[in-house]
Amino acid sequence: MGRRLLLPHTRRLMLFLRPMRYSASATATATAGSLRDPLHVCVVGSGPAGFYTAEKMLKGREGVRVDIIDRLPTPFGLVRSGVAPDHPETKIVVNQFSRVAANPRCSFFGNVTLGSDLSLSELRKTYDVVVLAYGAESDRSFGIPGEDLRGIHSAREFVWWYNGHPDMCNLAPDLTNTDSAVVLGQGNVALDVARILLRCTTELASTDIADYALDALRSSTIRKVYLVGRRGPVQAACTAKELREILGNYKMCLKNVNVYIKEADLATSPADKEEMRNSRIKRRVYELLSKAATVHQENNDNDRKELHFVFFRKPTKFLPSEDGSTVGAMELEKTLLKDDGATGKQVAVGTGEFEELKCGIVLKSIGYKSLPIEGLSFDKYRGVVPNLRGRVLSSESETATVEPGLYVVGWLKRGPTGIVATNLHCAEETHTNRHVFGLWFV
Ligand code: NAP
Repeated sequence: MGRRLLLPHTRRLMLFLRPMRYSASATATATAGSLRDPLHVCVVGSGPAGFYTAEKMLKGREGVRVDIIDRLPTPFGLVRSGVAPDHPETKIVVNQFSRVAANPRCSFFGNVTLGSDLSLSELRKTYDVVVLAYGAESDRSFGIPGEDLRGIHSAREFVWWYNGHPDMCNLAPDLTNTDSAVVLGQGNVALDVARILLRCTTELASTDIADYALDALRSSTIRKVYLVGRRGPVQAACTAKELREILGNYKMCLKNVNVYIKEADLATSPADKEEMRNSRIKRRVYELLSKAATVHQENNDNDRKELHFVFFRKPTKFLPSEDGSTVGAMELEKTLLKDDGATGKQVAVGTGEFEELKCGIVLKSIGYKSLPIEGLSFDKYRGVVPNLRGRVLSSESETATVEPGLYVVGWLKRGPTGIVATNLHCAEETHTNRHVFGLWFV
């Protein structure tokens, strides 16, 4: 890999001095037989989706050459900056990606930003195929009052901070002005940040967490973390494996933490029971939360930190601290679940009853968001590039046409959901779908 990490100006020159191949429009009308070898592919983004796609392409057709570009100087995207440091087993996949990068037909070019260093149209003119795999590097927001107060961060920013991402190494979240943190959302990212806030720092010291983050966590005064969900325990977006790590009792589980769950929140409606009948994951998550509600309450050691699962609460306002310098509390509205009619999904509806939850830091963990780039169609509502099983479409409309030679994969294709391995199937679909790569790999 090292020999392919080139200096920025050399990289740029190489990219543009390379002999031009087919233009995108020429390839659209060419037949598979008339394509000149070697096919030259550019994958934009070096996270799991990008590397799985590169691997598929290199194996899929002899002679294909794949260039992977990334705006960061280092490869591996979300595996490097998104996976929690106490999940080393998830990072093992970089060995597989390193083998892909070591393929003589694959090159990695770091420090190249699509949209500023070069445009999408330049890239499409330079390569036969462009696959966009640049993920989701922004955040969903609430759009409620007080959201810009100091002490409020997105979970992505916090995760990038403790993972040493260059964009967030100066975030400096204040972990010393409070004993209480609120995490908004109950997905796996919310569990990750809660775990990192609560985990014993002697355990974190043996991980690859950024040194400055470890120092900050060592000085942290946070003793209580509130995980706030707008719906109930049946609808919690986390998965059983990740929950077990917090609630369970084996080696890598959280130690010295009391878990609090209100028994009243565990009451289930017929609709909840139906949801659990239809989903083994929901059933397991609910069972784990129910068990934790009874088991952990019995432990009254004062040295222990606290993790509170707060269900049926919708954030309505971020409130300032007394001196106004930072966030001081969340205003939450109690909710009820109602069938939304159209999708059959149970949605949270405010009851008009409000309460305050004091805190000195808030981490918003309600999902990542992809960003558009110039010259690319983008579905702002779903935060994805309109596509037909990976093949980029010219717009979201029914009359949209396929963009020749342009493909999408990963979170930019399907939205910010799924684990690292989900991208393997996603890359497989983009690569093997006959409609998608029929021209190239028949
Ligand atoms: P997520 O699973 O989609 O969870 C988002 C959470 O935010 C949900 O609890 C959701 O509640 C809540 N939410 C969304 N909009 C909201 C709003 N306006 N107000 C209040 N709450 C709102 O997203 P994520 O946690 O960012 O995770 C992204 C993906 O990465 C997931 O597929 C996850 O499994 C994966 N991941 C996996 C691991 C792992 O395997 N260890 C680790 C990290 C991430 P509703 O359900 O009510 O919308």
